[in-house]
Amino acid sequence: MPPISFEFFPPKTDEQRATLEKTVAALQPRRPQYVSMTFGAGGSTLSYTLEAVRDLLGHGLDAAPHLSCMGGSRAEIRELIQSYRALGVKRIVALRGDLPSGMASFGDLRYASDLVEFIRAESGDHFHIEVACYPEVHPQAADAHADLLHFKRKIDAGANGAITQYFYNPDGYFRFVEAAQRLGVDAPIVPGIMPISNFSQLKRFSELCGAEIPRWLAKRLAAYADDADAIREFSSDVVADLCRTLLERGAPGLHFYTLNRARPTLSVLDRLGALD
Ligand code: FAD
Repeated sequence: MPPISFEFFPPKTDEQRATLEKTVAALQPRRPQYVSMTFGAGGSTLSYTLEAVRDLLGHGLDAAPHLSCMGGSRAEIRELIQSYRALGVKRIVALRGDLPSGMASFGDLRYASDLVEFIRAESGDHFHIEVACYPEVHPQAADAHADLLHFKRKIDAGANGAITQYFYNPDGYFRFVEAAQRLGVDAPIVPGIMPISNFSQLKRFSELCGAEIPRWLAKRLAAYADDADAIREFSSDVVADLCRTLLERGAPGLHFYTLNRARPTLSVLDRLGALD
């Protein structure tokens, strides 16, 4: 099985902490290459990300904080990078983030490529840096080609690899990878995988981030209405088929958006067992 990684978000309450503990305990035996912890826009979950990363490192996991330009000024981001380094962090997922509503301006750094450049200037090759990319095009991009060039800029700035936004159409992913390779990008582009357990939540996320739910999939999921077991069975088959296709056609690994729940990701991994 090629490398897998799991993404979590930082818990804020004791209940969420307990859920994450259980999720990590259930997923750790699947031997992820690394796990990552998101970073809320506007710096509001700053301390939560650091705390959560410390916990994951304590479990012996290679834990990668997400870091966004919304972390604030250069001085604030420098401090954060130094704190992560002191904690023993070796890997960072570098992002622009999104401007929270009501916030008028970005921090000192405007784009993720600026952040990658800054991390390299501050800490040389200490961190392995992952960046985001969008086979179905970032929602704010002027067009697909401009978005691709902006992605290349992040790799040229020193990123080691990329994780895609989730998608359910593998052809879009392979077209994107081929186009990036034609521009000279040879860093691994790992597909981001979103297991499905709640259709209305998935629809909401997808509208925000510009990920497309194919019509056939939306119609089938909608038809299950509130039958959670049926949705889980059907969507685990769909997502496992997607993963199988991706791996068979050369994807270098899989990054699972777990939403801090083990079961949807495990159902997919169990169906992929034959690939071990
Ligand atoms: P960028 O690469 O900076 O691109 C943003 C937009 O600007 C794109 O449209 C791009 O084409 C354009 N652009 C880039 N450079 C230039 C330029 N020089 N001139 C003009 N236009 C340019 N968000 C969070 O808040 N926290 C997280 O933890 C988080 N984790 C994520 C993890 C993954 C794997 C992914 C795929 C996304 C994640 N996001 C997260 C969401 C992400 O922050 C948003 O998608 C955000 O809108 C863009 O971030 P980016 O790093 O891709 O930005």
